Amino acid sequence: MEFDFPGVASNAVQADLLVVPCHEGDTPLKGYAFADAVSKLFLKGDFTGKRGQAMILPSNGAVAATRICLLGMGKGEDESVRAFADTLCDVFRGSAIDTLKLKHVAVALEVELKHRGFKPELVGRAVADAAIFGSYFFRRLHTKDKHTKRQFAEKVSLVGAKNKELKAGVEKGATVAKYACLARDLVNEPSNFMKPRDLAAAAKKMADETPGLKCKIIEKPEIEKLKMGSFLGVNAGSDDPARLIVLEYNGGKKGDAPVAFVGKGLCFDTGGYNIKANSLGMKGDMGGGAATIAALGACAALKLPVNVVGVVPATENEISGKAYHPGDILISMSGQTIEVDNTDAEGRLILCDALTYVQRTYKPAVIADMATLTGAAVVAVGNRYVAVMGNDQSTVKKMLASFETVGENAWQLPLPDCYDKLLDSPICDMKNIGGNPGTITAGLFLQRFIDKGQKWLHLDVAGSALYDGENWGLWNSKTPTGSPCRAIVQFAEDWHAANKGKGKK
Ligand SMILES: [Zn+2]
Repeated sequence: MEFDFPGVASNAVQADLLVVPCHEGDTPLKGYAFADAVSKLFLKGDFTGKRGQAMILPSNGAVAATRICLLGMGKGEDESVRAFADTLCDVFRGSAIDTLKLKHVAVALEVELKHRGFKPELVGRAVADAAIFGSYFFRRLHTKDKHTKRQFAEKVSLVGAKNKELKAGVEKGATVAKYACLARDLVNEPSNFMKPRDLAAAAKKMADETPGLKCKIIEKPEIEKLKMGSFLGVNAGSDDPARLIVLEYNGGKKGDAPVAFVGKGLCFDTGGYNIKANSLGMKGDMGGGAATIAALGACAALKLPVNVVGVVPATENEISGKAYHPGDILISMSGQTIEVDNTDAEGRLILCDALTYVQRTYKPAVIADMATLTGAAVVAVGNRYVAVMGNDQSTVKKMLASFETVGENAWQLPLPDCYDKLLDSPICDMKNIGGNPGTITAGLFLQRFIDKGQKWLHLDVAGSALYDGENWGLWNSKTPTGSPCRAIVQFAEDWHAANKGKGKK
């Protein structure tokens, strides 16, 4: 998709469709120079600007574009940049673009920028997000024309305003959205095409194509040497050997402690001997890993002035004569012993060794792990929120702010000591499940692998990464979202901005 800034007034742009954001009221076209001419195209009252109302009309010469889309932005609480992005996304996703074969879409911005006073950079990002996510479609495995030839917008012109921040916002938004779509693709791939080796190959390919990004794949023999007994315990039942995917981007000062992301790369989760009654959808259990891989690509493509490392333990959780059993005890890389109370609580077992690895190898300034970790997270915050936990309140607040900036929802859950003892085992250091509250006890389990003084965040994306709802804002119906890729890229940028000049940590 191409974005341009033709530098003409909205009424003069030659396009297949001119989208005109309108605010609810008696005069929804207020603020546009072409208001009178366009008002003649529809009956008063037919279009009020109610949020989400979209009316496509032939322009009949009222403007240079062939058609106009009057787009209702609502009023009051609806009037945020995020609401603008969400509503605009519906136009790009809508069937009109396909059925009318609209390749070139222009968006009129004079009202959003001049009259609403939205920040140009955020408006630019909103247009890029809306256009790219609204045009997202996993086409690779379709063979029929209606899918392979489905039309999406190819060119998007931003008109009615022109400034440097707007352009910078589009460039940043488009870059991050492109990588978030890579995360969507990785999660969309079925498990027979997305084994640990395929996930590793995808990370390698991305790194090869992205200047400044390094990728190292640690193979099973070396994982054995590293004594990642917990990670290897989960991998035992799978014919596909475990891999530890490590991505490094050094955009910051040499020697500056990196921001570390650790993502769960569970390519298929049968549940193991605690078998799931229904494992449909469990190809997506590598959503956190996909977001981590994509985020590293985005950080490098944006040339962020910060050092970032991404670590993804990749494996399947299978059933076979070699698989681990309930009651087995695993010796983690940290040396701590873990009783496998439930083989389906495997995400934390692969993450804990990755957390030890990243701390020992990189001594990060901050770590954020992300995982489709617990069904309990879907119960707690649903599929439109990410559950955020952490051991340092100011770091948690920073992460929540980064989510806010990119227009994604996150909510903090506590990690209180009183639930930590639920993880104690009578036979070794800890069990891998502590019961309810399941999202919190999973977070507390991971916290046992965090060194004293290490800033750490845990993001449970069980609901948000594998979104199974209706079309909603930038998220498409029953489609992986790429969450939390955009938020963690923002976090890396914000972390740098807040800590520059503060020395190593
Ligand atoms: Zn599981």
